Amino acid sequence: MTTAEWVFDGGRPCLHLVNTLRDRHRGGRELLTTPAALTEWLGLAGYGGRATAADLATALELREAVDRVSRAVSAGERPDRADVTVLNTVAASAPAPALRLDADGTPRRTVQGGTGRVTTALAMLAVDAIELVTTSPCVRICAADDCGLRFADSSPKRSRQWCSMARCGNRAKARAHYARRQR
Ligand SMILES: [Zn+2]
Repeated sequence: MTTAEWVFDGGRPCLHLVNTLRDRHRGGRELLTTPAALTEWLGLAGYGGRATAADLATALELREAVDRVSRAVSAGERPDRADVTVLNTVAASAPAPALRLDADGTPRRTVQGGTGRVTTALAMLAVDAIELVTTSPCVRICAADDCGLRFADSSPKRSRQWCSMARCGNRAKARAHYARRQR
């Protein structure tokens, strides 16, 4: 299965994950429907690994916690304690890095123990969310009323409106142009 609908316009890995539930403005449309879908997303997001049903459950729980925490912090509100616990639990499953030396002495960064790539990926996404809300918590929702995608606004004036100019910005401009012509 290949989903042409994955979008990576969130500006942060953790928000790319949040955006795997599309159409949040009208209740949401799930793209992470199976472990295979999560495996595909992890591959496209650069993590790799083969997801299990348990990984999928963790990913969905993490995703919704990231969405609620990042929106709360961006709005100057106190995030829910249970959501904070989800972020911390998943982040704590990150394996410790290990330094290994090749035969010729070349240093390689690896991970300790047999922790799977998917566990590592989800932990990295949780860590990314923690870094996001503690450094530049300006998560916005695309201004297009039929979009609902989240993105980290890192524009100088915090004035970015669209998840992507190509997808929503140009449509909005075209609509405004058409409306002017009608008048
Ligand atoms: Zn949009």
